[in-house]
Amino acid sequence: MQITFLGTSSGVPTRSRNVSSIALRLPQRAEVWLFDCGEGTQHQILRSELRVSQITRIFVTHMHGDHIYGLMGLLASCGLAGNPSRIDIYGPPKLDEYLKACGRYSQTHFSYPVKVHTVQPGLVFEDEDFAVICGALTHRVPAFGYRVIEKDKPGRFDVDRAVALGIPPGPIYGQLKRGNVVTLPDGRIINGQELCGETQTGRKFVYCTDTIYCDSAVELAADADVLVHEATFAHQDAELAYQRLHSTSTMAAQVALGAQARQLIMTHFSPRYAPGNAIELGDLLAEAKAIFPHTIMAHDFLTYEIPRRPTPALVSSS
Ligand SMILES: [Zn+2]
Ligand SMILES: [Zn+2]
Repeated sequence: MQITFLGTSSGVPTRSRNVSSIALRLPQRAEVWLFDCGEGTQHQILRSELRVSQITRIFVTHMHGDHIYGLMGLLASCGLAGNPSRIDIYGPPKLDEYLKACGRYSQTHFSYPVKVHTVQPGLVFEDEDFAVICGALTHRVPAFGYRVIEKDKPGRFDVDRAVALGIPPGPIYGQLKRGNVVTLPDGRIINGQELCGETQTGRKFVYCTDTIYCDSAVELAADADVLVHEATFAHQDAELAYQRLHSTSTMAAQVALGAQARQLIMTHFSPRYAPGNAIELGDLLAEAKAIFPHTIMAHDFLTYEIPRRPTPALVSSS
């Protein structure tokens, strides 16, 4: 599981930062999921290692232009370039209408199915490997954060060892595979967990933008391996953050701290902190690190491999 930042500026693009979009690569299934799609996102993808043809799902946080203006162009190009079998889009109310109107007035017809799902807080997607939950954020328009949960993978059952232990094949194997403790016909007690490899703990990626500090962001980010949170403003400009319902660097850090996340990556920076200005992005980083040391700043094309946690020790039988 790998994330690549395709845009890290708020509101407008700058020379070095495009507007919001993040790609989540799921190498085990050769898929890319996008989170937001600001204008120019398809150009950013062309300049990255990612392939447009691998995009299967797009999650949209809210209906501000810097998060959606790239959607129509990307979807149109997908049909021409990548020929996807289907793209599922998740987002706030009106996203469906917006895309339909764009299609109608520009005479754009997709050559593949595009399904728009209107989200509400709660589960928005689930299959055997992943679940995605969304939570309401606090912004000037309805906005949603997303939590991607990779499911734990049970360890592989060691059939050879089971046979060597003289365990008779049958339904008992099924129970042992699930890690249950089983009493054999001869009275021996076998703990299935000892015949299974280590469980692979799934990872959790959380994306919160745009929002001012809110408890539901903390809740959504609980125990995340990586929290990507907006930090439009420096602490000194908190007044602007309150006016526009955006976060300061210290608010982002407080969410990460409250959620006990393992890593915070800040993004969605106001262009006012470009190098040479009174306050620079290094200052935002220092402010956040004073509260939550495991903080880094995103930049366009930053790729971050979400690490696996060490596997907890097996519970041994007594
Ligand atoms: Zn924004
Ligand atoms: Zn916004």
